[in-house]
Amino acid sequence: MNAITSFLDSLEATANSTLRVSSLHALAYCPRLFYLEEVEELYTEDAAVFAGRRLHAELEKQEDEDWEELFLENEELGLRGRVDALRTRDGWVIPYEHKRGRSYRDEHDQPQAWESDRLQILAYAYLLEVTLGVPIQEGRIRYHADNVLVHVPLDETGRRMVREAIAQARALRCSTHRPPVTENERLCGRCSLAPVCLPEEARLAHDQGWQPVRLFPEDDDRQILHILEPGTSVGRAGEQLKITACPNRSAGTKPTVEKVPARQVGQVVLHSFAQISTQALRFCADQGIGVHLVSGGGRYLGSFDSRQGSIQRRLRQYEALSNPDFCLQLARRLVACRGQGQRKFLMRGRRGAGEATAALGVAIDQMKAVLKGVPRAESLGSLLGLEGNLAALYFGALGEMISPGVPQELRFDQRNRRPPKDRFNALLGFGYALLLKDVMNAILTVGLEPALGFYHQPRTQAPPLALDLMEIFRIPLVDMPVVGSINRNQWDAATDFTVCEQQVWLSDDGRRKFVALYERRKEESWKHPVTEYSLTYRRLMELEVRLLEKEWMGEGGLFGQLIIR
Ligand code: SF4
Repeated sequence: MNAITSFLDSLEATANSTLRVSSLHALAYCPRLFYLEEVEELYTEDAAVFAGRRLHAELEKQEDEDWEELFLENEELGLRGRVDALRTRDGWVIPYEHKRGRSYRDEHDQPQAWESDRLQILAYAYLLEVTLGVPIQEGRIRYHADNVLVHVPLDETGRRMVREAIAQARALRCSTHRPPVTENERLCGRCSLAPVCLPEEARLAHDQGWQPVRLFPEDDDRQILHILEPGTSVGRAGEQLKITACPNRSAGTKPTVEKVPARQVGQVVLHSFAQISTQALRFCADQGIGVHLVSGGGRYLGSFDSRQGSIQRRLRQYEALSNPDFCLQLARRLVACRGQGQRKFLMRGRRGAGEATAALGVAIDQMKAVLKGVPRAESLGSLLGLEGNLAALYFGALGEMISPGVPQELRFDQRNRRPPKDRFNALLGFGYALLLKDVMNAILTVGLEPALGFYHQPRTQAPPLALDLMEIFRIPLVDMPVVGSINRNQWDAATDFTVCEQQVWLSDDGRRKFVALYERRKEESWKHPVTEYSLTYRRLMELEVRLLEKEWMGEGGLFGQLIIR
Protein backbone atom coordinates (compact mmCIF):
# COMPACT_ATOMS: atom_id res chain seq x y z
CA MET A 1 0.00 0.00 0.00
CA ASN A 2 2.85 2.32 0.92
CA ALA A 3 4.57 1.59 -2.39
CA ILE A 4 1.37 2.42 -4.32
CA THR A 5 0.85 5.61 -2.32
CA SER A 6 4.41 6.73 -2.94
CA PHE A 7 4.12 5.86 -6.66
CA LEU A 8 0.91 7.96 -6.88
CA ASP A 9 2.64 10.75 -4.95
CA SER A 10 5.53 10.67 -7.39
CA LEU A 11 3.10 10.82 -10.34
CA GLU A 12 1.40 13.83 -8.76
CA ALA A 13 4.77 15.47 -8.12
CA THR A 14 5.74 14.85 -11.76
CA ALA A 15 2.45 16.27 -12.97
CA ASN A 16 2.93 19.44 -10.93
CA SER A 17 6.64 20.04 -11.52
CA THR A 18 7.60 22.65 -14.08
CA LEU A 19 8.10 21.74 -17.73
CA ARG A 20 11.10 22.69 -19.83
CA VAL A 21 10.13 25.17 -22.53
CA SER A 22 12.03 23.04 -25.03
CA SER A 23 9.73 20.12 -24.16
CA LEU A 24 6.81 22.19 -25.48
CA HIS A 25 8.74 22.49 -28.72
CA ALA A 26 8.84 18.68 -28.87
CA LEU A 27 5.12 18.53 -28.01
CA ALA A 28 4.18 20.87 -30.84
CA TYR A 29 6.40 18.89 -33.22
CA CYS A 30 4.84 15.56 -32.27
CA PRO A 31 3.16 14.50 -28.98
CA ARG A 32 4.86 11.10 -29.25
CA LEU A 33 8.25 12.80 -29.36
CA PHE A 34 7.35 14.71 -26.19
CA TYR A 35 6.31 11.45 -24.51
CA LEU A 36 9.46 9.57 -25.55
CA GLU A 37 11.69 12.35 -24.25
CA GLU A 38 9.86 13.53 -21.16
CA VAL A 39 8.19 10.38 -19.89
CA GLU A 40 10.37 7.59 -21.23
CA GLU A 41 13.49 9.77 -20.98
CA LEU A 42 14.89 8.70 -24.33
CA TYR A 43 17.28 11.06 -25.97
CA THR A 44 19.63 10.66 -28.88
CA GLU A 45 22.28 13.16 -29.68
CA ASP A 46 22.16 13.19 -33.44
CA ALA A 47 24.09 15.45 -35.77
CA ALA A 48 21.36 18.12 -35.82
CA VAL A 49 21.35 18.41 -32.02
CA PHE A 50 25.15 18.74 -31.96
CA ALA A 51 25.04 21.35 -34.71
CA GLY A 52 22.41 23.29 -32.76
CA ARG A 53 24.63 23.27 -29.71
CA ARG A 54 27.59 24.49 -31.76
CA LEU A 55 25.50 27.37 -33.03
CA HIS A 56 24.60 28.39 -29.48
CA ALA A 57 28.23 28.15 -28.40
CA GLU A 58 29.28 30.39 -31.31
CA LEU A 59 26.59 32.91 -30.46
CA GLU A 60 27.78 33.03 -26.89
CA LYS A 61 31.23 33.95 -28.18
CA GLN A 62 29.79 36.83 -30.21
CA GLU A 63 28.33 38.32 -27.07
CA ASP A 64 27.29 41.93 -27.58
CA GLU A 65 26.03 44.46 -25.06
CA ASP A 66 22.42 43.26 -25.40
CA TRP A 67 23.20 39.62 -24.87
CA GLU A 68 21.96 38.11 -21.63
CA GLU A 69 21.55 34.44 -20.99
CA LEU A 70 18.77 34.02 -18.49
CA PHE A 71 17.40 31.00 -16.69
CA LEU A 72 13.76 31.39 -15.66
CA GLU A 73 11.31 29.26 -13.72
CA ASN A 74 7.73 29.97 -12.72
CA GLU A 75 5.80 27.36 -10.79
CA GLU A 76 2.45 29.06 -11.23
CA LEU A 77 2.74 28.96 -15.00
CA GLY A 78 4.50 25.58 -14.80
CA LEU A 79 7.49 26.41 -17.02
CA ARG A 80 11.23 26.73 -16.82
CA GLY A 81 13.88 27.40 -19.45
CA ARG A 82 16.94 29.26 -20.58
CA VAL A 83 16.31 32.06 -23.05
CA ASP A 84 18.75 32.02 -26.00
CA ALA A 85 19.16 35.81 -25.99
CA LEU A 86 17.47 38.84 -24.56
CA ARG A 87 17.63 42.27 -26.15
CA THR A 88 16.07 45.65 -25.45
CA ARG A 89 14.56 47.53 -28.40
CA ASP A 90 12.69 50.85 -27.98
CA GLY A 91 12.23 50.08 -24.29
CA TRP A 92 10.73 46.62 -24.89
CA VAL A 93 12.44 43.46 -23.67
CA ILE A 94 12.51 40.92 -26.50
CA PRO A 95 13.47 37.23 -26.20
CA TYR A 96 15.33 35.72 -29.18
CA GLU A 97 15.56 32.14 -30.32
CA HIS A 98 18.19 30.97 -32.81
CA LYS A 99 17.52 28.15 -35.27
CA ARG A 100 20.03 26.57 -37.60
CA GLY A 101 17.48 25.71 -40.28
CA ARG A 102 15.25 27.66 -42.65
CA SER A 103 12.00 29.45 -41.91
CA TYR A 104 8.64 28.13 -43.05
CA ARG A 105 7.33 29.79 -46.26
CA ASP A 106 3.61 30.56 -46.43
CA GLU A 107 1.45 30.57 -49.59
CA HIS A 108 2.82 34.04 -50.46
CA ASP A 109 6.38 32.83 -50.01
CA GLN A 110 6.71 34.96 -46.90
CA PRO A 111 8.97 33.67 -44.11
CA GLN A 112 7.10 32.48 -41.03
CA ALA A 113 7.96 30.54 -37.89
CA TRP A 114 7.38 26.80 -37.83
CA GLU A 115 4.53 25.86 -35.49
CA SER A 116 6.80 24.23 -32.89
CA ASP A 117 9.22 27.20 -32.98
CA ARG A 118 6.30 29.60 -32.59
CA LEU A 119 5.08 27.81 -29.46
CA GLN A 120 8.59 27.76 -28.04
CA ILE A 121 9.25 31.50 -28.43
CA LEU A 122 5.74 32.31 -27.15
CA ALA A 123 6.42 30.17 -24.09
CA TYR A 124 9.70 32.01 -23.43
CA ALA A 125 7.98 35.38 -23.86
CA TYR A 126 5.11 34.42 -21.56
CA LEU A 127 7.53 32.99 -18.97
CA LEU A 128 9.52 36.24 -19.05
CA GLU A 129 6.38 38.27 -18.64
CA VAL A 130 5.09 36.44 -15.56
CA THR A 131 8.52 36.01 -13.96
CA LEU A 132 9.90 39.51 -14.43
CA GLY A 133 6.51 41.23 -14.19
CA VAL A 134 7.14 43.30 -17.33
CA PRO A 135 4.92 43.32 -20.41
CA ILE A 136 6.42 41.47 -23.39
CA GLN A 137 5.22 42.48 -26.80
CA GLU A 138 6.85 39.84 -28.96
CA GLY A 139 9.54 37.21 -29.37
CA ARG A 140 11.84 36.83 -32.38
CA ILE A 141 13.32 33.83 -34.13
CA ARG A 142 16.40 34.04 -36.28
CA TYR A 143 16.65 31.30 -38.93
CA HIS A 144 20.31 31.14 -39.82
CA ALA A 145 20.08 28.99 -42.97
CA ASP A 146 18.09 31.64 -44.87
CA ASN A 147 19.11 34.54 -42.61
CA VAL A 148 15.58 35.56 -41.77
CA LEU A 149 14.22 37.16 -38.61
CA VAL A 150 10.61 36.29 -37.80
CA HIS A 151 8.59 38.37 -35.31
CA VAL A 152 6.05 36.46 -33.19
CA PRO A 153 3.64 38.73 -31.26
CA LEU A 154 2.60 37.67 -27.76
CA ASP A 155 -1.13 38.37 -27.54
CA GLU A 156 -3.97 36.71 -25.66
CA THR A 157 -4.24 33.98 -28.33
CA GLY A 158 -0.52 33.21 -27.90
CA ARG A 159 -0.82 33.05 -24.12
CA ARG A 160 -3.81 30.69 -24.41
CA MET A 161 -1.85 28.51 -26.82
CA VAL A 162 0.95 28.18 -24.25
CA ARG A 163 -1.45 27.40 -21.37
CA GLU A 164 -3.21 24.72 -23.45
CA ALA A 165 0.09 23.16 -24.42
CA ILE A 166 1.16 23.03 -20.75
CA ALA A 167 -2.13 21.33 -19.81
CA GLN A 168 -1.71 18.77 -22.62
CA ALA A 169 1.90 18.11 -21.62
CA ARG A 170 0.94 17.57 -17.97
CA ALA A 171 -1.77 15.11 -18.94
CA LEU A 172 0.70 13.20 -21.12
CA ARG A 173 3.26 13.07 -18.32
CA CYS A 174 0.78 11.14 -16.17
CA SER A 175 -0.27 8.75 -18.93
CA THR A 176 1.12 5.23 -19.31
CA HIS A 177 0.11 5.21 -23.00
CA ARG A 178 2.58 6.26 -25.65
CA PRO A 179 0.74 8.51 -28.17
CA PRO A 180 0.37 7.22 -31.76
CA VAL A 181 2.84 8.17 -34.49
CA THR A 182 2.24 11.45 -36.26
CA GLU A 183 0.15 11.45 -39.43
CA ASN A 184 2.64 13.81 -41.04
CA GLU A 185 5.32 11.27 -41.93
CA ARG A 186 7.67 13.97 -43.25
CA LEU A 187 8.29 15.01 -39.64
CA CYS A 188 9.69 11.57 -38.88
CA GLY A 189 12.46 11.92 -41.46
CA ARG A 190 13.94 14.78 -39.40
CA CYS A 191 13.15 13.36 -35.96
CA SER A 192 16.14 12.37 -33.83
CA LEU A 193 14.11 9.66 -32.08
CA ALA A 194 12.98 7.84 -35.24
CA PRO A 195 15.34 4.86 -34.52
CA VAL A 196 13.61 4.37 -31.19
CA CYS A 197 10.08 5.30 -32.16
CA LEU A 198 10.10 3.21 -35.38
CA PRO A 199 7.20 5.15 -36.94
CA GLU A 200 7.41 3.40 -40.30
CA GLU A 201 7.16 0.01 -38.65
CA ALA A 202 4.15 1.23 -36.64
CA ARG A 203 2.48 2.31 -39.89
CA LEU A 204 3.22 -1.09 -41.42
CA ALA A 205 1.63 -2.76 -38.39
CA HIS A 206 -1.62 -0.93 -39.16
CA ASP A 207 -1.42 -1.12 -42.94
CA GLN A 208 0.09 -4.23 -44.52
CA GLY A 209 0.46 -2.44 -47.84
CA TRP A 210 2.70 0.22 -46.31
CA GLN A 211 6.26 0.21 -47.64
CA PRO A 212 8.42 1.27 -44.73
CA VAL A 213 11.45 3.46 -45.22
CA ARG A 214 14.45 2.77 -43.02
CA LEU A 215 14.92 5.91 -40.90
CA PHE A 216 18.08 4.83 -39.11
CA PRO A 217 21.53 3.59 -40.11
CA GLU A 218 21.90 0.05 -41.46
CA ASP A 219 24.71 -0.65 -39.05
CA ASP A 220 25.97 0.31 -35.63
CA ASP A 221 29.66 0.48 -36.40
CA ARG A 222 30.83 0.94 -32.83
CA GLN A 223 33.40 -1.66 -31.75
CA ILE A 224 32.74 -4.48 -29.36
CA LEU A 225 35.84 -4.65 -27.15
CA HIS A 226 36.41 -8.26 -26.11
CA ILE A 227 38.99 -8.32 -23.33
CA LEU A 228 40.15 -11.90 -23.55
CA GLU A 229 43.48 -11.92 -21.74
CA PRO A 230 43.24 -12.65 -18.00
CA GLY A 231 44.61 -9.76 -15.95
CA THR A 232 44.04 -7.14 -18.65
CA SER A 233 42.41 -4.08 -17.17
CA VAL A 234 40.10 -1.43 -18.60
CA GLY A 235 40.37 2.08 -17.20
CA ARG A 236 39.40 5.57 -18.19
CA ALA A 237 41.68 8.21 -19.69
CA GLY A 238 39.64 11.34 -20.39
CA GLU A 239 37.12 10.51 -23.08
CA GLN A 240 38.88 7.26 -23.93
CA LEU A 241 38.92 3.73 -22.60
CA LYS A 242 42.43 2.61 -21.72
CA ILE A 243 43.19 -1.09 -22.04
CA THR A 244 46.31 -2.24 -20.22
CA ALA A 245 47.46 -5.78 -20.96
CA CYS A 246 49.49 -7.61 -18.33
CA PRO A 247 53.18 -8.16 -18.99
CA ASN A 248 54.09 -11.74 -19.78
CA ARG A 249 57.02 -12.31 -17.39
CA SER A 250 58.02 -15.64 -18.83
CA ALA A 251 58.18 -14.11 -22.32
CA GLY A 252 59.83 -10.93 -20.94
CA THR A 253 57.17 -8.60 -22.45
CA LYS A 254 56.17 -5.24 -20.97
CA PRO A 255 52.59 -4.06 -20.31
CA THR A 256 50.93 -2.75 -23.46
CA VAL A 257 48.45 0.11 -23.44
CA GLU A 258 45.80 0.79 -26.05
CA LYS A 259 43.40 3.72 -25.95
CA VAL A 260 40.05 3.72 -27.74
CA PRO A 261 37.75 6.77 -27.95
CA ALA A 262 34.58 5.95 -26.03
CA ARG A 263 32.33 7.13 -28.88
CA GLN A 264 33.74 4.29 -31.01
CA VAL A 265 32.78 1.61 -28.47
CA GLY A 266 29.41 -0.12 -28.19
CA GLN A 267 30.22 -2.78 -25.60
CA VAL A 268 33.04 -3.93 -23.34
CA VAL A 269 33.04 -7.70 -22.84
CA LEU A 270 35.23 -8.88 -19.97
CA HIS A 271 36.18 -12.52 -20.42
CA SER A 272 37.72 -14.67 -17.76
CA PHE A 273 39.57 -12.54 -15.14
CA ALA A 274 39.80 -9.25 -17.05
CA GLN A 275 39.27 -6.19 -14.83
CA ILE A 276 37.51 -2.84 -15.09
CA SER A 277 37.92 0.19 -12.84
CA THR A 278 34.95 1.86 -11.15
CA GLN A 279 35.75 5.06 -13.05
CA ALA A 280 35.60 3.20 -16.35
CA LEU A 281 32.40 1.42 -15.31
CA ARG A 282 30.67 4.69 -14.49
CA PHE A 283 32.00 6.26 -17.67
CA CYS A 284 30.64 3.35 -19.73
CA ALA A 285 27.23 3.75 -18.04
CA ASP A 286 27.19 7.48 -18.86
CA GLN A 287 28.16 6.82 -22.47
CA GLY A 288 25.62 4.04 -23.01
CA ILE A 289 28.37 1.43 -23.43
CA GLY A 290 27.24 -2.05 -22.36
CA VAL A 291 29.56 -3.89 -19.96
CA HIS A 292 29.25 -7.69 -19.85
CA LEU A 293 31.00 -10.56 -18.12
CA VAL A 294 31.76 -13.95 -19.68
CA SER A 295 33.55 -16.65 -17.68
CA GLY A 296 36.76 -18.34 -18.79
CA GLY A 297 34.65 -21.42 -19.47
CA GLY A 298 32.50 -19.44 -21.89
CA ARG A 299 29.45 -18.90 -19.68
CA TYR A 300 27.60 -15.59 -19.79
CA LEU A 301 27.77 -14.25 -16.22
CA GLY A 302 25.88 -10.98 -16.34
CA SER A 303 25.74 -7.36 -17.44
CA PHE A 304 26.15 -4.03 -15.71
CA ASP A 305 22.63 -2.68 -15.67
CA SER A 306 22.50 1.07 -15.29
CA ARG A 307 19.08 1.71 -16.77
CA GLN A 308 17.20 4.71 -15.57
CA GLY A 309 13.93 6.22 -16.63
CA SER A 310 12.43 3.15 -18.25
CA ILE A 311 9.82 2.53 -15.58
CA GLN A 312 6.87 3.24 -17.92
CA ARG A 313 8.18 0.74 -20.45
CA ARG A 314 8.62 -1.91 -17.78
CA LEU A 315 5.17 -1.25 -16.30
CA ARG A 316 3.63 -1.85 -19.73
CA GLN A 317 5.72 -5.01 -20.13
CA TYR A 318 4.54 -6.35 -16.74
CA GLU A 319 0.96 -5.63 -17.64
CA ALA A 320 1.17 -7.27 -21.07
CA LEU A 321 3.15 -10.34 -20.02
CA SER A 322 0.87 -11.02 -17.08
CA ASN A 323 -1.72 -12.14 -19.61
CA PRO A 324 -1.22 -15.90 -20.28
CA ASP A 325 -3.11 -15.80 -23.61
CA PHE A 326 -0.93 -12.99 -24.87
CA CYS A 327 2.21 -14.86 -23.80
CA LEU A 328 0.99 -18.00 -25.59
CA GLN A 329 0.43 -16.05 -28.83
CA LEU A 330 3.96 -14.67 -28.71
CA ALA A 331 5.43 -18.04 -27.78
CA ARG A 332 3.73 -19.74 -30.75
CA ARG A 333 5.30 -17.19 -33.05
CA LEU A 334 8.69 -17.66 -31.45
CA VAL A 335 8.65 -21.46 -31.68
CA ALA A 336 7.48 -21.28 -35.29
CA CYS A 337 10.24 -18.78 -36.09
CA ARG A 338 12.99 -20.93 -34.58
CA GLY A 339 11.60 -24.21 -35.98
CA GLN A 340 11.26 -22.79 -39.49
CA GLY A 341 14.79 -21.39 -39.25
CA GLN A 342 16.13 -24.80 -38.26
CA ARG A 343 14.24 -26.47 -41.09
CA LYS A 344 15.33 -23.94 -43.71
CA PHE A 345 18.94 -24.37 -42.61
CA LEU A 346 18.72 -28.14 -43.06
CA MET A 347 17.17 -27.56 -46.49
CA ARG A 348 20.36 -25.78 -47.53
CA GLY A 349 22.27 -29.02 -47.00
CA ARG A 350 19.92 -31.13 -49.11
CA ARG A 351 21.80 -31.07 -52.36
CA GLY A 352 22.87 -33.96 -54.51
CA ALA A 353 22.11 -37.56 -53.65
CA GLY A 354 23.24 -40.06 -51.03
CA GLU A 355 22.52 -41.07 -47.46
CA ALA A 356 23.02 -37.60 -45.98
CA THR A 357 20.49 -36.08 -48.36
CA ALA A 358 17.99 -38.79 -47.61
CA ALA A 359 18.39 -38.34 -43.82
CA LEU A 360 18.02 -34.58 -44.15
CA GLY A 361 14.93 -35.07 -46.32
CA VAL A 362 13.26 -37.22 -43.66
CA ALA A 363 13.99 -34.68 -40.89
CA ILE A 364 12.80 -31.78 -43.06
CA ASP A 365 9.51 -33.52 -43.84
CA GLN A 366 8.92 -34.48 -40.22
CA MET A 367 9.68 -30.97 -39.05
CA LYS A 368 7.12 -29.62 -41.50
CA ALA A 369 4.49 -31.87 -39.94
CA VAL A 370 5.43 -30.79 -36.38
CA LEU A 371 5.42 -27.11 -37.35
CA LYS A 372 1.79 -27.42 -38.46
CA GLY A 373 0.83 -28.07 -34.84
CA VAL A 374 2.56 -24.93 -33.48
CA PRO A 375 -0.19 -22.36 -34.29
CA ARG A 376 -2.75 -24.70 -32.69
CA ALA A 377 -0.83 -25.35 -29.44
CA GLU A 378 -3.15 -24.56 -26.56
CA SER A 379 -0.65 -24.19 -23.75
CA LEU A 380 2.99 -23.38 -23.14
CA GLY A 381 3.41 -27.01 -22.06
CA SER A 382 2.24 -28.40 -25.41
CA LEU A 383 4.39 -25.81 -27.20
CA LEU A 384 7.42 -26.98 -25.22
CA GLY A 385 6.68 -30.51 -26.39
CA LEU A 386 6.54 -29.42 -30.03
CA GLU A 387 9.71 -27.38 -29.63
CA GLY A 388 11.42 -30.44 -28.12
CA ASN A 389 10.35 -32.53 -31.13
CA LEU A 390 11.68 -29.92 -33.55
CA ALA A 391 14.99 -29.69 -31.68
CA ALA A 392 15.36 -33.50 -31.65
CA LEU A 393 14.76 -33.67 -35.42
CA TYR A 394 17.05 -30.76 -36.12
CA PHE A 395 19.98 -31.92 -33.98
CA GLY A 396 19.40 -35.48 -35.14
CA ALA A 397 20.08 -34.35 -38.72
CA LEU A 398 22.61 -31.55 -38.11
CA GLY A 399 25.54 -33.93 -38.39
CA GLU A 400 24.54 -34.55 -42.03
CA MET A 401 25.41 -30.91 -42.78
CA ILE A 402 29.10 -31.58 -42.12
CA SER A 403 31.27 -32.21 -45.17
CA PRO A 404 32.75 -35.73 -45.54
CA GLY A 405 36.35 -34.44 -45.36
CA VAL A 406 36.00 -32.96 -41.84
CA PRO A 407 38.06 -34.90 -39.22
CA GLN A 408 36.08 -37.14 -36.90
CA GLU A 409 36.85 -35.14 -33.72
CA LEU A 410 35.22 -32.04 -35.20
CA ARG A 411 32.05 -33.75 -36.40
CA PHE A 412 28.68 -33.43 -34.70
CA ASP A 413 27.04 -36.38 -33.05
CA GLN A 414 24.49 -35.08 -30.58
CA ARG A 415 23.72 -31.93 -28.66
CA ASN A 416 25.09 -31.78 -25.16
CA ARG A 417 25.24 -28.74 -22.97
CA ARG A 418 27.40 -27.77 -20.04
CA PRO A 419 29.97 -29.13 -19.84
CA PRO A 420 30.40 -29.71 -23.58
CA LYS A 421 31.65 -33.19 -24.33
CA ASP A 422 33.02 -32.57 -27.81
CA ARG A 423 34.48 -29.79 -29.90
CA PHE A 424 31.35 -29.08 -31.91
CA ASN A 425 29.31 -28.57 -28.73
CA ALA A 426 32.09 -26.42 -27.24
CA LEU A 427 31.73 -24.11 -30.26
CA LEU A 428 27.94 -24.02 -30.03
CA GLY A 429 28.05 -23.39 -26.26
CA PHE A 430 30.46 -20.47 -26.51
CA GLY A 431 28.48 -19.02 -29.42
CA TYR A 432 25.21 -19.18 -27.48
CA ALA A 433 26.89 -17.45 -24.51
CA LEU A 434 28.01 -14.57 -26.76
CA LEU A 435 24.55 -14.42 -28.29
CA LEU A 436 22.89 -14.30 -24.86
CA LYS A 437 25.20 -11.43 -23.97
CA ASP A 438 24.24 -9.52 -27.14
CA VAL A 439 20.53 -10.09 -26.66
CA MET A 440 20.88 -8.86 -23.06
CA ASN A 441 22.65 -5.79 -24.38
CA ALA A 442 19.75 -5.11 -26.75
CA ILE A 443 17.15 -5.62 -24.00
CA LEU A 444 18.97 -3.24 -21.65
CA THR A 445 19.40 -0.68 -24.44
CA VAL A 446 15.67 -0.73 -25.14
CA GLY A 447 14.91 -0.62 -21.40
CA LEU A 448 12.81 -3.77 -20.98
CA GLU A 449 12.98 -6.10 -17.99
CA PRO A 450 15.07 -9.18 -18.90
CA ALA A 451 13.70 -11.23 -16.02
CA LEU A 452 10.16 -11.18 -17.39
CA GLY A 453 9.72 -13.31 -20.50
CA PHE A 454 6.74 -14.83 -22.26
CA TYR A 455 7.96 -18.36 -22.97
CA HIS A 456 10.97 -19.43 -20.90
CA GLN A 457 10.30 -19.79 -17.22
CA PRO A 458 12.54 -18.28 -14.52
CA ARG A 459 14.24 -21.56 -13.65
CA THR A 460 17.86 -20.96 -14.49
CA GLN A 461 20.22 -18.08 -13.86
CA ALA A 462 19.66 -16.75 -17.38
CA PRO A 463 16.99 -14.05 -17.74
CA PRO A 464 13.87 -15.54 -19.40
CA LEU A 465 13.24 -12.68 -21.83
CA ALA A 466 16.81 -12.95 -23.11
CA LEU A 467 16.37 -16.71 -23.56
CA ASP A 468 13.14 -16.05 -25.47
CA LEU A 469 14.75 -13.57 -27.85
CA MET A 470 17.84 -15.70 -28.37
CA GLU A 471 15.73 -18.31 -30.14
CA ILE A 472 15.36 -16.03 -33.14
CA PHE A 473 19.10 -15.64 -33.64
CA ARG A 474 20.56 -19.04 -32.73
CA ILE A 475 20.52 -20.37 -36.29
CA PRO A 476 21.81 -17.37 -38.25
CA LEU A 477 24.34 -16.14 -35.70
CA VAL A 478 25.71 -19.34 -34.19
CA ASP A 479 24.70 -22.58 -35.91
CA MET A 480 25.33 -21.38 -39.45
CA PRO A 481 28.79 -19.86 -38.80
CA VAL A 482 29.82 -22.91 -36.75
CA VAL A 483 28.82 -25.39 -39.45
CA GLY A 484 30.32 -23.17 -42.16
CA SER A 485 33.66 -22.75 -40.36
CA ILE A 486 33.89 -26.50 -39.61
CA ASN A 487 33.24 -27.31 -43.27
CA ARG A 488 35.91 -24.82 -44.29
CA ASN A 489 38.38 -26.55 -41.96
CA GLN A 490 38.97 -23.37 -39.95
CA TRP A 491 39.47 -25.18 -36.63
CA ASP A 492 42.50 -26.99 -35.36
CA ALA A 493 41.32 -29.88 -33.20
CA ALA A 494 44.54 -29.76 -31.17
CA THR A 495 45.33 -26.08 -30.58
CA ASP A 496 41.87 -24.49 -30.59
CA PHE A 497 40.46 -26.73 -27.86
CA THR A 498 41.36 -27.91 -24.37
CA VAL A 499 40.27 -31.41 -23.48
CA CYS A 500 39.90 -32.37 -19.80
CA GLU A 501 38.64 -35.91 -19.43
CA GLN A 502 34.99 -35.79 -20.62
CA GLN A 503 34.93 -32.02 -21.02
CA VAL A 504 36.02 -29.98 -24.04
CA TRP A 505 36.51 -26.21 -23.92
CA LEU A 506 37.85 -23.65 -26.35
CA SER A 507 41.49 -22.76 -25.72
CA ASP A 508 42.60 -19.11 -25.58
CA ASP A 509 43.39 -19.27 -29.31
CA GLY A 510 40.08 -20.95 -30.01
CA ARG A 511 38.12 -18.27 -28.13
CA ARG A 512 39.94 -15.51 -30.02
CA LYS A 513 39.12 -17.19 -33.32
CA PHE A 514 35.51 -17.71 -32.35
CA VAL A 515 35.04 -14.09 -31.25
CA ALA A 516 36.42 -12.90 -34.60
CA LEU A 517 34.13 -15.30 -36.52
CA TYR A 518 31.06 -14.28 -34.52
CA GLU A 519 31.70 -10.53 -34.75
CA ARG A 520 32.26 -10.80 -38.52
CA ARG A 521 28.96 -12.60 -38.84
CA LYS A 522 27.18 -9.82 -36.94
CA GLU A 523 28.48 -7.29 -39.46
CA GLU A 524 26.67 -9.04 -42.31
CA SER A 525 23.42 -7.52 -43.52
CA TRP A 526 20.12 -9.29 -43.78
CA LYS A 527 17.02 -8.08 -45.53
CA HIS A 528 14.17 -8.18 -43.06
CA PRO A 529 11.43 -10.32 -44.63
CA VAL A 530 8.60 -8.05 -43.49
CA THR A 531 9.99 -4.52 -43.41
CA GLU A 532 12.03 -5.35 -46.53
CA TYR A 533 14.98 -3.19 -45.65
CA SER A 534 18.46 -4.45 -44.87
CA LEU A 535 20.16 -4.23 -41.50
CA THR A 536 23.24 -5.82 -40.03
CA TYR A 537 22.60 -8.57 -37.51
CA ARG A 538 23.87 -6.39 -34.71
CA ARG A 539 21.20 -3.81 -35.55
CA LEU A 540 18.57 -6.49 -36.09
CA MET A 541 18.84 -7.65 -32.47
CA GLU A 542 17.87 -4.24 -31.15
CA LEU A 543 15.17 -3.89 -33.82
CA GLU A 544 13.67 -7.22 -32.79
CA VAL A 545 13.46 -6.13 -29.13
CA ARG A 546 11.76 -2.90 -30.19
CA LEU A 547 9.35 -4.85 -32.40
CA LEU A 548 8.56 -7.09 -29.43
CA GLU A 549 7.73 -4.02 -27.35
CA LYS A 550 5.41 -2.86 -30.11
CA GLU A 551 3.39 -6.07 -29.60
CA TRP A 552 1.90 -4.57 -26.45
CA MET A 553 1.82 -1.01 -27.73
CA GLY A 554 -0.96 -1.61 -30.27
CA GLU A 555 1.56 -1.75 -33.14
CA GLY A 556 2.19 -5.49 -33.20
CA GLY A 557 2.51 -8.18 -35.85
CA LEU A 558 6.14 -7.71 -36.90
CA PHE A 559 7.92 -9.54 -34.09
CA GLY A 560 9.33 -13.03 -34.69
CA GLN A 561 9.34 -12.95 -38.48
CA LEU A 562 13.10 -13.30 -39.01
CA ILE A 563 13.33 -16.62 -40.80
CA ILE A 564 16.29 -17.44 -43.01
CA ARG A 565 15.49 -18.14 -46.62
S1 SF4 B 1 9.62 9.53 -35.41
FE1 SF4 B 1 7.76 10.58 -36.07
S2 SF4 B 1 6.11 9.72 -34.83
FE2 SF4 B 1 8.03 9.19 -33.86
S3 SF4 B 1 8.36 10.77 -32.34
FE3 SF4 B 1 9.45 11.39 -34.17
S4 SF4 B 1 8.01 12.65 -35.32
FE4 SF4 B 1 6.83 11.54 -33.77
